[in-house]
Amino acid sequence: MYKLNRLKSRKNLLNSWKQQIIVITSLFVLSIASGCTQTQEQTQTQEKTESNSIQSSSVSNSEKTQILTTFLPMYLFTKAVAGDVANVEMLVPLGTDVHDYQATPDNVKAIATARILVKNGLGMEEFLKDTVKNAENTKLIEIDASKGIKVIDEISPVEEVKDHDHDHDHKHEHAEGNPHVWLDPVLAKQQVINIRDGLINADPANKEVYQTNAAAYIQELDKLNNEFQQTLSKTPNCTFITFHDAFPYIAQRYNLKQVAVVQIPEDQLSPADIQKAISAVKKYNVKALFSEPGIDNKLLSSLSQDLKLTMYPLKSLENGETNPQYYFQAMRENLQNLEKGCK
Ligand SMILES: [Zn+2]
Repeated sequence: MYKLNRLKSRKNLLNSWKQQIIVITSLFVLSIASGCTQTQEQTQTQEKTESNSIQSSSVSNSEKTQILTTFLPMYLFTKAVAGDVANVEMLVPLGTDVHDYQATPDNVKAIATARILVKNGLGMEEFLKDTVKNAENTKLIEIDASKGIKVIDEISPVEEVKDHDHDHDHKHEHAEGNPHVWLDPVLAKQQVINIRDGLINADPANKEVYQTNAAAYIQELDKLNNEFQQTLSKTPNCTFITFHDAFPYIAQRYNLKQVAVVQIPEDQLSPADIQKAISAVKKYNVKALFSEPGIDNKLLSSLSQDLKLTMYPLKSLENGETNPQYYFQAMRENLQNLEKGCK
């Protein structure tokens, strides 16, 4: 479903390129300024990522249990639970968009030789189905981190006209719901519990390690949940506008309302998306916009200037750093930015 919508929005982008060029030209100076900052940030993230992967490969040991995870949040939670007793690897490389990821032959090879595969599920890892089949690993144990989680069926109120295609897409959306459950600390705790229990089942020899590590991480998740509750209870029913439909679970948990203008992060927003954003800003009387860090939102930064709205980053954690503590760091940044944007 996400893929279909992405293709559709790319088509829209092409159709309206002329309009866009006019906007881009008029905002050229501003675009240069924001472009420079992003490049610098991206380089820094990449440097950190490289040093992290060096650290993890230096403790590699072929006798350890091999655990594959799909993308960053699954890696962070699994690494937190497994600690040093297993080798944890990630299939989707950092800097790649998991929403339209295409599996590589190396991914198939990795799955063919792994004992355990941890996934978010809920349709997040569309690339996995054929990849697991092609790997023909009959001994592979799959851990579905979202097992037992009650999903939000409806995609958030994206501001758009319903046409036939859109209704068709909706049928896909209802099948598995919104997959971004890891962004709610309470559901993240459920995912950590699912991963812990799955690892204990698959590798009972390390049961105590998994239990101890999971308990420590869960304690931190509880603390994080308390911080979100205390801070966001001061701004009930705050409406926030995003450009990635990744935050309906945070919204539901802490009594906020997310309005997503586009479902998945786009490198460039179309003029139609900008129009949707403008009408959402007027309709909900918001004071801030939230954007995905690392996405080149030149039109969005110009829009926030035009509308005199502050733009804050809101991290989906689909990309970032590989230290399990990164979850808490990024989520606390999200909390601070939501607090500022909701004032
Ligand atoms: Zn996403």
